[in-house]
Amino acid sequence: MMNQINSEHFDNFKSVAVALKITVDGLQDYVHSKLRSLHQSIYRKCSVGQCHDNCSRRYGHIFSQWCTTCQTWKKELHRLNRHRKHWENIKWNKLDTIDFPFSYEEACKVFVQDFSNRRQGLFEDLSALMSICRNLRHFNCVINDNIIGDILRTRNTYFAHNYALSLHAVEKAQCFNCLIVLFKIPEIACTQSSKTALNVLEEMKTSQNIPERILHKPNVQYTLAVIKDALNTTTNEQLEENTISNPYYDECFDNEHFRVKQFYK
Ligand SMILES: [Zn+2]
Repeated sequence: MMNQINSEHFDNFKSVAVALKITVDGLQDYVHSKLRSLHQSIYRKCSVGQCHDNCSRRYGHIFSQWCTTCQTWKKELHRLNRHRKHWENIKWNKLDTIDFPFSYEEACKVFVQDFSNRRQGLFEDLSALMSICRNLRHFNCVINDNIIGDILRTRNTYFAHNYALSLHAVEKAQCFNCLIVLFKIPEIACTQSSKTALNVLEEMKTSQNIPERILHKPNVQYTLAVIKDALNTTTNEQLEENTISNPYYDECFDNEHFRVKQFYK
């Protein structure tokens, strides 16, 4: 079956897989600086002593037991949250509120869908980043729901659940166009990581090859290794799983974690 893959279509698939990694890299400066400044402004409001119990782990949803510091952090983070339904589903006992004052990564987990199931660091995971953009007010006014929806659909349809590992030229172009939009948003475009990503994406969009200068990046190498594994082991059975479900919830088993999937089969 895999022998029949058209090599051009396979190259298109690899390009899109790498482009998704480049997109994650490109967002780093914007995401970190924005989260750092939001975190600092909450920190100033919440200088009410230190937590000693790690209230979220210890008391979970029994908020009345929480210390004043953890309660204040929760209240301030809640003000930044957009979707009530998301907020109501946070698994507090899997968070460490004791670390909120010292780590914006820990604090921003409250905005990430299913943060406890993610195998990668939050900031290396495109769907986690999109979750932050969707649920955090300050991000959503810059990256709107249409852009987020397009990016998640692109990732899921053309990469994560594309077990044929194959894309037509027109599909590849569509993926690149949708990712490039992100790096033309003025607030993002002005950062260095965004400029670098845009430059690479523009070049890859019109070229069959992956540029030499990004091949040495560990996340690009990892992606290409995972695809190579997938190519060697993909069977008809996996092709039958090629279903596209809700882009926000079905993130657990996909091409990104192909080796993990193989391992548990
Ligand atoms: Zn506490």
